[in-house]
Amino acid sequence: MLLEKYLSKVNFDSYEDFIQNFKLNIPENFNFAYDVVDEIASKTPDKIAIVWCDENGNEATFTFGQLKEYSDRTANFFKKAGIKKGDPVMLILKRRYEFWFAILALHKIGAICIPATHLLTTKDIIYRNNAADIKMIVCVAEDEVIKHVEESLEKSPSVMAKALIGKDKEGWYNFNKEIENESPDFERPTGEDAPTNDSIMLLYFTSGTTGMPKMVSHDFTYPLGHIVTAKYWQNVIDGGLHLTVADTGWAKAVWGKIYGQWLAGSAVFVYDYDKFVPKELLEVICKYGVTTFCAPPTIYRFFIKEDLSKYDFSKLKYCTVAGEPLNPEVYNQFYKATGIRLMEGYGQTELTVTLGTFPWMEPKPGSMGKPSAGYEIDLLDENGNSCEVGEEGQVVIRTDKIKPVGMFGGYYRDKELTNKVWHDDIYYTGDMAWRDEDGYYWFVGRADDVIKSSGYRIGPFEVESALLEHPAVLECAITAVPDPIRGQIVKATVVLAKNYTPGDDLVKELQDHVKKVTAPYKYPRIIEFVDELPKTISGKIRRVEIRAKDQSK
Ligand code: ATP
Ligand code: MG
Repeated sequence: MLLEKYLSKVNFDSYEDFIQNFKLNIPENFNFAYDVVDEIASKTPDKIAIVWCDENGNEATFTFGQLKEYSDRTANFFKKAGIKKGDPVMLILKRRYEFWFAILALHKIGAICIPATHLLTTKDIIYRNNAADIKMIVCVAEDEVIKHVEESLEKSPSVMAKALIGKDKEGWYNFNKEIENESPDFERPTGEDAPTNDSIMLLYFTSGTTGMPKMVSHDFTYPLGHIVTAKYWQNVIDGGLHLTVADTGWAKAVWGKIYGQWLAGSAVFVYDYDKFVPKELLEVICKYGVTTFCAPPTIYRFFIKEDLSKYDFSKLKYCTVAGEPLNPEVYNQFYKATGIRLMEGYGQTELTVTLGTFPWMEPKPGSMGKPSAGYEIDLLDENGNSCEVGEEGQVVIRTDKIKPVGMFGGYYRDKELTNKVWHDDIYYTGDMAWRDEDGYYWFVGRADDVIKSSGYRIGPFEVESALLEHPAVLECAITAVPDPIRGQIVKATVVLAKNYTPGDDLVKELQDHVKKVTAPYKYPRIIEFVDELPKTISGKIRRVEIRAKDQSK
């Protein structure tokens, strides 16, 4: 098995065994595209790598043998277009299967892949082109995207080539025609032409939940860091079919749609859709026999409002959740409806799975879990001292002994920002949590989101979870509103479930409900009902936007 090449030990009996004995062996000049994809292709060319479908009923399946060939063709095309080792190339490909040809091809050349979302505006693209000196852009043939890319060019002197998926257009390569005409063999570069383990392979933008997205750089060892993500957290099955819900513009896509899954022998499932319709997603999960599933909490929040008894989940063995805190109510309802326990994980674009509920552990609803193998985690108080059990502090990673495989190298071309979050061998995640007597970590909120009211510190997550226990609440966000007397007061912005209407009685009922299930001083003094919460494109609640709106009133 492929994993044995990279791990001293593959099977563990317990969480303790995993933490103590998990060890990655990193070969020199590791390159995922050759050493994993082409390796599997040479031994089992017919093994399925990708099962793809879109919302219009189109389907495609790719074996490792085909992926080897298509990535070689694509590498030859990039080379023809002038792309060399170290050149940054931006991919705006949504969930089109060409994304996988392109990312592997860029790895083969040793170029830097920058996946981005199709929702970028002209200004965003100009910013990215110049921040990273992007040489080439490959994008979906959608009018808006083409328009924004074209408008960006005047102010993007580094961009020398551009390609469209499946469409002829003047000034653009037709990606699909080009790769059909190229040779199906690309020779692995050697010596000076080959990337080394510390070369940058990937730049990802963070979600932008708290502000401007940051550009995170990962080196060629990064895919190996995701062995833990896929094999020991998502618990993917050799020969199984894994679905992680994520657009390729976000790091979550490489957590769940390529590296660790293929290393662990699972195929990945891709559902290419524009609008999230809970019913449709549930249907494809059942129809294609997804075996392991990973999604942010927002997806599960919508799932539990569906009649889950209508679906046949017999193939679905394991479900994980990360990206935002998971409210215990969502855990409980999903469990009641499906019998599946949601295994939570915590991480960042900058990291791999850092805290997690691993298969040997009993999940505690509302807790993120325990430290992942290879990560030395601590909680620090405001004075930099380690917190006691039950005491709240910032989640940090100590890197004095080792830097975890898969942890970023820094923000690209931004030493100042890198040093701000990572100094004296401590990386500050910006997230607040506390640890219980069993070593489980409980999320409190992002450091910027924690509310200080009348001398109390209030974590938004706990109040949101309390509100969500009320059947009227579909989603909610807790934020602070400035107050002359208390400093800050707690506000809830609430999206109501079907069949509920806003009103003073409901405000009172929700306030009483929070007072009953949590410490009364945390109850929201203000409740605003809205149709939708402001979210990032990846589906995270942007409390910062609600705060800004309230401040400007
Ligand atoms: P930005 O850094 O641009 O503001 P972002 O932090 O949302 O955006 P990501 O890297 O996508 O960008 O998300 C990482 C963050 O998501 C973590 O720092 C944490 O705040 C949150 N997160 C991830 N998993 C969990 C979890 N299980 N529980 C609570 N929060 C989580
Ligand atoms: Mg962040």
